[in-house]
Amino acid sequence: MTDNELRIVLAARLASVHARIDVACARVNRNPAGVTLVAVTKTVTPRVAKSAAELGVLDLGESRPQELWRKAEALNDLPIRWHLVGHLQRNKVERALPLVHLIHSVDSLRLLQTIADEGRKRNIRPRVLLQVNASHEEQKHGFDEDELARAEPEVTGTPVDVLGLMTMAAYSEDSELARPAFVVLRKLRDRLRSEWSLTSTQLEHLSMGMSGDFEVAVEEGATIVRIGTTLFEGLENE
Ligand SMILES: *Cc1c(COP(=O)(O)O)cnc(C)c1O
Repeated sequence: MTDNELRIVLAARLASVHARIDVACARVNRNPAGVTLVAVTKTVTPRVAKSAAELGVLDLGESRPQELWRKAEALNDLPIRWHLVGHLQRNKVERALPLVHLIHSVDSLRLLQTIADEGRKRNIRPRVLLQVNASHEEQKHGFDEDELARAEPEVTGTPVDVLGLMTMAAYSEDSELARPAFVVLRKLRDRLRSEWSLTSTQLEHLSMGMSGDFEVAVEEGATIVRIGTTLFEGLENE
């Protein structure tokens, strides 16, 4: 595909995703400006990611830290906000932190502490979301709700900006089956905001919704959706 062909394909898919977000917002009287699209570029090359960024999608997500820093380096001439959406090992925090706009996948208090320590060294206040295993699947990373609700002293005492919560629903052909996990996340966010002493920007965001279920997530209050397949399917070799 030429650069121009690639741009045309991506522009059409982006328009379609934005239209679907708009329709989902309209169903529940939300302003689409309150939903940030993170394009998850983990299956595509820096060239395709760059094309998306040039079309105005400046929030890009990667699930592996190594791939994030490879792409961040390749695209360092663009004002991209990199989102780390996959599991982060503590030994990768030092290298990832300066490159990342928002870490969606903080799944333990130990990791939160490591991120805070690294932020202190660099004189920055890291921005994170806490990952919740709202679908209660064994193999998934993340806090369970009660475990997190009990962690107020550790979370609020750590010099990190906890901007919200993130979850992944169980994979299913039927997006309605994802809804309960999204409701759990929203209610947990609301509960923590009322029980914990927080500033107004803390725990504001809900990162939920992927290609198969983002409209349901938007209906349930997602402020960030993370979309890969719908945008990039078939472009893996470009
Ligand atoms: C891959 C991935 C996505 C995007 O998933 P799609 O179904 O391809 O849209 C979103 N969030 C996380 C954590 C991912 O790993």
